Amino acid sequence: MKVCCEKCFNYEPFITYIKKEGIMGNCSFCKSEKVFTIDVQDGFFDSKLFIFAHKFLPHDAGFELERFFTKQIDLLSNSLSPISAKELLFYLFRKSIGKDLLEGTFSVRFEDSIIRTWDNFKEDIKHGNRFGFGIVSELKELLTEIIKKNEMYLEADKLLYRARLGKLENSHGLPYEDDQIMSPPKYLASEGRINPKGIPYLYLTTNEKTAIAEVRPYKGKEISVATVKIKKDIRISSFNNTTFHGETLFKQFQLYSLTNTINMELSKPADEDTKYFNYIPTQYIGELAKYLDFEGIEYRSALEEGKNYCLFNQDKVSWTNSILYRVKQLNIISEPIDMSGTNWRR
Ligand SMILES: [Zn+2]
Repeated sequence: MKVCCEKCFNYEPFITYIKKEGIMGNCSFCKSEKVFTIDVQDGFFDSKLFIFAHKFLPHDAGFELERFFTKQIDLLSNSLSPISAKELLFYLFRKSIGKDLLEGTFSVRFEDSIIRTWDNFKEDIKHGNRFGFGIVSELKELLTEIIKKNEMYLEADKLLYRARLGKLENSHGLPYEDDQIMSPPKYLASEGRINPKGIPYLYLTTNEKTAIAEVRPYKGKEISVATVKIKKDIRISSFNNTTFHGETLFKQFQLYSLTNTINMELSKPADEDTKYFNYIPTQYIGELAKYLDFEGIEYRSALEEGKNYCLFNQDKVSWTNSILYRVKQLNIISEPIDMSGTNWRR
């Protein structure tokens, strides 16, 4: 019989259970000696881990399962070696994941019920109850928790970037500067991924390349790129962090699923003809963060490696300088769409 021990796990309810029900012995996985141990096939583990059954699919560009259950979901102890962690996961998930598969990498299928709730809310706020009063309280509580838990600061003196298509008219090559490239006045602000029409926000990125990609230029197009400086610490919430340790496994998985889904939607470029509707759910997220006294949000870029920021006002940001760029080459790689992978995170 293989036994695991209190030291194999980081998840408190598992540790408590092993200490209560286990017997003194040596662990088959982490090799600790004289610790509380228990049969790794104990039904208690199955009853807590069934929520993850059939959620993983082999995927070449995915993640390792032992990493997912250490970093993203707070299950395994950090001190387990990758080999021991794999071995332990094989026993814990023996009913749903083959041992040969554990050697590879995976994508995960998000927790279904919360994604359905989010999808219903998106439909309602686009075509039913526009100002968000139709939100179910469970969803609002989870969104609030995600925003509050992922508080971080953009620190004073940090440099960020911002791009605008084109250059100063009749200038023979001068980029847009200062007010011309910062957020537009409120009567000119058109809707964006996070800002409603008439409410200007400042969109920034961590590097020039991402800033240029985000304005989606074509080959030969000139783009003004500004460097801006954060003047004072800015309190933001990051959708790039998907760690919710300290919650139950189910709730961690729910929050992870919802955060990743919203992060993808924040970063996904919208089609011109449907963007008015499709921007509304992410505008709601921005409004909620603003209501919770955050000054902006951080999210990933679907177009480049850098991160994106949306700041709700530009008072704590100063323009530093601008450079005019021209796009030399766009690299387009395409493939037919595989519809079987919907809702799978890689
Ligand atoms: Zn152990």
